[in-house]
Amino acid sequence: MTHNNKVVIFLGPPGAGKGTQAARLAQEHQLVQLSTGDILRDHVARGTELGLKAGPLMEAGQLVPDDLLIALIRDRLADMEPVRVIFDGFPRTQAQAEALDLLLEELGAPVSAVPLLEVPDQVLIDRIVERGRQAVAEGRAPRADDNEETARKRQLVYREQTQPLIDHYARRGHLYTVDGLGTPDEVYERILSGLH
Ligand code: AMP
Repeated sequence: MTHNNKVVIFLGPPGAGKGTQAARLAQEHQLVQLSTGDILRDHVARGTELGLKAGPLMEAGQLVPDDLLIALIRDRLADMEPVRVIFDGFPRTQAQAEALDLLLEELGAPVSAVPLLEVPDQVLIDRIVERGRQAVAEGRAPRADDNEETARKRQLVYREQTQPLIDHYARRGHLYTVDGLGTPDEVYERILSGLH
């Protein structure tokens, strides 16, 4: 166990800006960003066994099974010393949150803070559709799930499976809410002011 451990968990619906904010916080605070969406997209692109299982589910806006995600995170944390990490897109279900609690306990690295990015539903859909358009405009392939129909499905899945985690972390005193509207700089400042 070391005093230098830091564990930040970003919560918030798809399109709230977790990835953007987590990347900056990771860079400026010497933390490792674990974005499960990015890790899974990399597996899909490489056609690994995990990627072949995850791809169709991701494309449909559904969650990838808990045991696969938990194994993936367990693996990433295994040799980390100190444990300085930002989770972005994990945990997404109660089972994942409970597994993470156990894992962090084993590592002696308790959760430091859980910022919750709040953005109105329609703004989220607009952002995701715009992110898809932007990729095409820049000659990149858009994410397979960045379209309006799948975005709505992901929002529903968030509400049903991930939103209950707000309570899980609020009860433990880790949660603070952040207004996710405004420029990335403005949102970043709000996140920092809630971190200690
Ligand atoms: P994201 O990039 O976080 O929006 O994730 C994109 C997709 O990857 C999600 O819609 C899920 O299909 C899958 N995914 C990412 N993280 C998880 C997770 N923790 N549990 C289950 N599925 C996940």
